[in-house]
Amino acid sequence: DEKVRERTEELEVSNKQLKIWSMTDSLTQLKNRHYFDENLVTEYQKAYREKSWLSLIMMDIDHFKQINDNYGHQAGDMVLQEVASAIESSIKRPSDAAARYGGEEFTVLMSNTPKSGAYLIAERIRQNIERLKLEWEGEVISVTMSLGLVSCTPVSNKAEATLLKQADDYLYHAKRHGRNQVIYEDNIHTGLPNT
Ligand code: GH3
Ligand code: MG
Ligand code: MG
Repeated sequence: DEKVRERTEELEVSNKQLKIWSMTDSLTQLKNRHYFDENLVTEYQKAYREKSWLSLIMMDIDHFKQINDNYGHQAGDMVLQEVASAIESSIKRPSDAAARYGGEEFTVLMSNTPKSGAYLIAERIRQNIERLKLEWEGEVISVTMSLGLVSCTPVSNKAEATLLKQADDYLYHAKRHGRNQVIYEDNIHTGLPNT
């Protein structure tokens, strides 16, 4: 009996560990794409039911290929880790979830957060990344980020893909108009911060 119980406990521990691994990005330790996709559906439906605000930031490191080309992939990986930790330390609430969406693309999903509050977070992330002092083999690497931000109170149950697409469109607008900026509904026509 004792043996069976021990074995069951061991299995429970390794199941828990597996579950954590399956939703974690191994390089940055942020949540991974798989977690993000599921969490987006869950939070979108929750915001729809509760008629609450949901905000999403989609962001992409500027000219990241140049960093890899100039300093090598290990330097690139270090930059990804430092950027991830700058994102993580820019968000404050336990309900804010940062994830690595793809290579050098990251997301932050914030429940119960309207546009004004989400913009502050996005701008804080942008500044914290701009201020990073990264060094690689004696050389200083500077990094900037372009961000697209969307906020909504969902009007239908299953439109999370539309939210994602809008965030991506704003992100590409930021890329086309000079990078190192946050683009959202209120500044898309002026390109200016905090209108
Ligand atoms: P932009 O400002 O338009 O975003 O330019 P960019 O160079 O960042 O964008 P592009 O899509 O041309 O290049 C992304 C590069 O990211 C390609 C690849 O070299 C690098 N990359 C993607 N995933 C990883 C990774 O896991 N590690 C490292 N070191 N580099 C990666
Ligand atoms: Mg990029
Ligand atoms: Mg990219």
